[in-house]
Parts: sequence; structure tokens; C-alpha cells
Amino acid sequence: MPQQTLTGSCLCGALKYRVTGEPARFFHCHCSRCRKSSGTGHASNLFVDQASLSWDGDTSMIKSYKVPEAQRFARTFCTRCGGPLPREIPDTKLVFVPAGTLDDEPNIKPQARIFQDSKTSWSCADAELPSFDQYPE
Ligand SMILES: [Zn+2]
Ligand SMILES: [Zn+2]
Repeated sequence: MPQQTLTGSCLCGALKYRVTGEPARFFHCHCSRCRKSSGTGHASNLFVDQASLSWDGDTSMIKSYKVPEAQRFARTFCTRCGGPLPREIPDTKLVFVPAGTLDDEPNIKPQARIFQDSKTSWSCADAELPSFDQYPE
């Protein structure tokens, strides 16, 4: 995978980030933790390998919550808007990026839906629903 620099931001814009590395994995994850964390049917998660992560903004506004019984699952967020933010995964050179926070287009497309066994009956799946660019009439 080629190196890429991606920028992103939280909902309120107080925190902006830049991650440089190799976008390596891109999944729609239907697991219950991603559902609870995102409030939606799945989270779109990008992992950048050999990555460096830098911030622009008041980093004291970044907080993390790690699920106590989870090996690694944590949610990093802006304390003003609650919006999710990237985080470095301990003991790896991976940076986890909630793909919806990106302001740039990654040079990788989603590769799979994962944890389909946790998928809710109402969650979206490819090609089963009509799609719209905006709210339908
Ligand atoms: Zn924010
Ligand atoms: Zn998940």
C-alpha cells in the first residue's frame, strides 16, 4: 500500500488531525461495541499502518474510554461535541481512524463487512436498499 496523508476533524471542528502511513484495512464493522460506540448499524473503520498521528487543536479535549473487559476496544472522542476521533493502538504501529471523521478521500475502499453475526435485522447491507445522495423526498 502506498503512503498517504489523511486529514480529518471532529463534529465541532475543535480538533483536527493528520495521519500519515499506509491505509491497510477498511471494514464496516457490525459488532455490538461498534454499534454502541457509533449509535448506528455499523462503524466504518480504517486502520493505517506504519502510521504517525498529529493533532491541531486543544488536545486536552481528547478523552478515551476503554471497555474494561476488552483487550483493545476503546472510544476516543472530543469532549465538546462527543464526536469520535482516531487513536493509536497500543503495542502496534496502527492508527485506528473512524472513517466518517475523514475530510480526505482514502486511497482504499471498504474491503468487507465484519462481525456479520452481530448485525441487526435493520442494518444496511449493500444493494438491498435504494440509495440517495440526499434525504429522499
Ligand atoms: Zn469536537
Ligand atoms: Zn466493531
